[in-house]
Amino acid sequence: MIIVPEEACPGLLDIDAAFAAVENVYSAMGRGDAYNFPVVREAIGHADALYGFKGGFDRVSQVLGVKAGGYWPHNLERGLGGNHQSTVFLFDPETGKATACIGGNYLTAARTAASCAVSIKHLARADAKVLGMVGAGHQSAFQMRAAARQRGFQRVVGWNLHKEMLSRLADTAAELGLPYESVELDRLGAEADVIITITSSFDPILMKSHVKPGTHIAAMGTDTKGKQELDAALVAAATLFTDEVAQSVSIGEAQHAVGQGLKGEADITQIGAVINGDHPGRRAPDEITLFDGTGVGLQDLAVAPAVVGLARGAGKAVAVAV
Ligand code: NAD
Repeated sequence: MIIVPEEACPGLLDIDAAFAAVENVYSAMGRGDAYNFPVVREAIGHADALYGFKGGFDRVSQVLGVKAGGYWPHNLERGLGGNHQSTVFLFDPETGKATACIGGNYLTAARTAASCAVSIKHLARADAKVLGMVGAGHQSAFQMRAAARQRGFQRVVGWNLHKEMLSRLADTAAELGLPYESVELDRLGAEADVIITITSSFDPILMKSHVKPGTHIAAMGTDTKGKQELDAALVAAATLFTDEVAQSVSIGEAQHAVGQGLKGEADITQIGAVINGDHPGRRAPDEITLFDGTGVGLQDLAVAPAVVGLARGAGKAVAVAV
């Protein structure tokens, strides 16, 4: 079995490799070649932790595995590393033997950013110029970097509930050579052509009245029952796309609009159908497109083998007998 330590991952997998892996696996999901297993997520009654598993199988790439991990809210304050902790395990689909164990924290950030970027590539207007960021946590910098490669953005506007975190958006935009301004939500919605939401909110932040026609929204923060970033009326007004419909209606942003009867499963298209040319994606310049990025196990399993290969090449893979 190959072990790739968490510390090695950022230097191995770049934005473009993560993008290609995630776009490919969404396409495989669209063809029915790859499927996710039902998500397990449990409050374990210790350290206030949420722990679970996301797994799947890609029959064509022959990738079988699981990401195990979750959220330990007190790690940072106790000096025990980040609050999100995960590990990816790969298995040989012929024998069931474990083939690799890879640190999953950086991979999660990279594959989530790639997911949002895939949606921008396939759904945003080609002439998008202003990127709006809602959320300024750990994940936001990854999202902005990956998004910036998909359109000729000329500037970034950002909003976050906790104003002390906004410097992360300013710093990331500066790194990308883009002018940045912190604004209120009505200005953000009026100016942004693409909006990424990446918060841990349990209440709607972005309302229908904030968003102008033609906007593409990548809603990336809602990955659990009860979380919400968008007003259900905004979701109802948009053309909906997602990574996986089953997750979108249960743990994704669409759970609220569906729960209120404003949208149904049949209104939501998996992005793989757009990538494969089976759905046109955006149909009109003034359409609001919404990608409900819930985070599927196959995203983790798509980037993991790439990292194993890169680690081998770089001499950073540790081989152990199990
Ligand atoms: P983080 O803890 O570093 O940052 C949290 C962000 O949410 C900050 O911007 C914070 O200001 C904001 N926030 C916190 N409570 C809020 C509230 N009540 N109302 C509005 N904003 C609030 O987290 P992160 O790593 O940046 O992740 C952000 C979100 O993305 C989390 O909900 C996480 O679970 C989710 N996530 C989703 C995927 C996916 O695949 N869809 C992957 C990774 C993370």
